[in-house]
Amino acid sequence: MKVYLDNSATTAVDKEVLEAMLPYFSDIYGNPSSLHSFGRQALKAVDESRQKIAALLGAKPNEIYFTSGGTESDNWAIKGAVRASKNKRRQVITSAIEHPALLETCEALEKSGEAEVTYLKVNKEGLVDPADVKKALNDDTVIVSIMTANNEMGAIQPISEIGEIVRGEGVLFHTDAVQAADTLDLNVNALNVDLLSLSAHKFHGPKGIGLLYMRSGVRLDRLINGGHQERRQRAGTTNTPLIVGMAKALEISVRDRERNVKHMTELRDYFIGRALNEIPYCYLNGGTERRLANNINLSFGFIEGEAILMSLDLKGIAVSSGSACSSGSLEPSHVLLALGVKEELAHSSIRFSLGRDTTKEEIEYTINTLKEIVDRLRGMSPLFNIEKRTGSYV
Ligand SMILES: *Cc1c(COP(=O)(O)O)cnc(C)c1O
Repeated sequence: MKVYLDNSATTAVDKEVLEAMLPYFSDIYGNPSSLHSFGRQALKAVDESRQKIAALLGAKPNEIYFTSGGTESDNWAIKGAVRASKNKRRQVITSAIEHPALLETCEALEKSGEAEVTYLKVNKEGLVDPADVKKALNDDTVIVSIMTANNEMGAIQPISEIGEIVRGEGVLFHTDAVQAADTLDLNVNALNVDLLSLSAHKFHGPKGIGLLYMRSGVRLDRLINGGHQERRQRAGTTNTPLIVGMAKALEISVRDRERNVKHMTELRDYFIGRALNEIPYCYLNGGTERRLANNINLSFGFIEGEAILMSLDLKGIAVSSGSACSSGSLEPSHVLLALGVKEELAHSSIRFSLGRDTTKEEIEYTINTLKEIVDRLRGMSPLFNIEKRTGSYV
């Protein structure tokens, strides 16, 4: 059996999305910037996609800027805001648990001397306290960026509450909503944001396309210089097929959201319940209340996450240990450490991220396989055998 439980890393392109994109690769291939009929035909598709996406986000079409994905959108929001600012000193406020696309951007700005960055702590459920945001704001603050939902452990932040504080002070507010797009309602006005990043491949659209929502009146420095595309703010030939695909994917995601969220929530809670009950020394990372419908993040005492990942892979089950972006390095997840998870347990964590197509049968197979693997790996662990002999093992 093949089971894909790594939907936070990327998702399969929906068949309907693929169908919608295909004509724009080979039949309607004109450059949307061209004035002739070939170009106009492509431009029409881009315009319609922009309108569709804007409507789904509660935005205006001219507030949507297409980019190459979540990473570019995050880079643009932060670098663009800092570089456009007239402040003498420029402070950025973010959280300690952001995606590397955000954290590495902040670190680069610190290194170049362009900005000072304040990294807010989170509680053990991974939540930012809006009061901490208020305390961190000062006259130098250019932009605050807090992710809508965390990619490793699914914490959903109080974005609209933070937005009220930040925007009330006349400071820009950005959110990386990449991980939230498939399961949460994203209305830019309800969320109270000035800037929002999305990436299509996290909601069953194609890879390599995303967007930055930019509220009317916001001015960012350009990240990509060149032609006049995207109202002169983001150069590069407009990617018609991928834009059409992203619009279709968002439309489907919103259309089927209620049903998919209910389905994934049931499977998630069943999985967590069984894992905590049936596997000793198994811990849930993050809270149960403000958690993405598709996210499960567990630590297994006495064993390495990588060993579990590899053993599951041999059984056809795809998961992630820590963040996909940090696997390959031996550093424990910065997110779990920020939650106060002990280093050994951070090393033993596995993320299971469900998808709309995940079945109950797949979940049963995964838990049963997981139990066997954990037992076998612990059998080989000297630490676990000491623990067992001293009698605290139940
Ligand atoms: C995947 C992801 C990104 C990066 O998006 P890409 O389109 O792959 O560049 C950024 N932020 C979060 C929270 C993500 O999950």
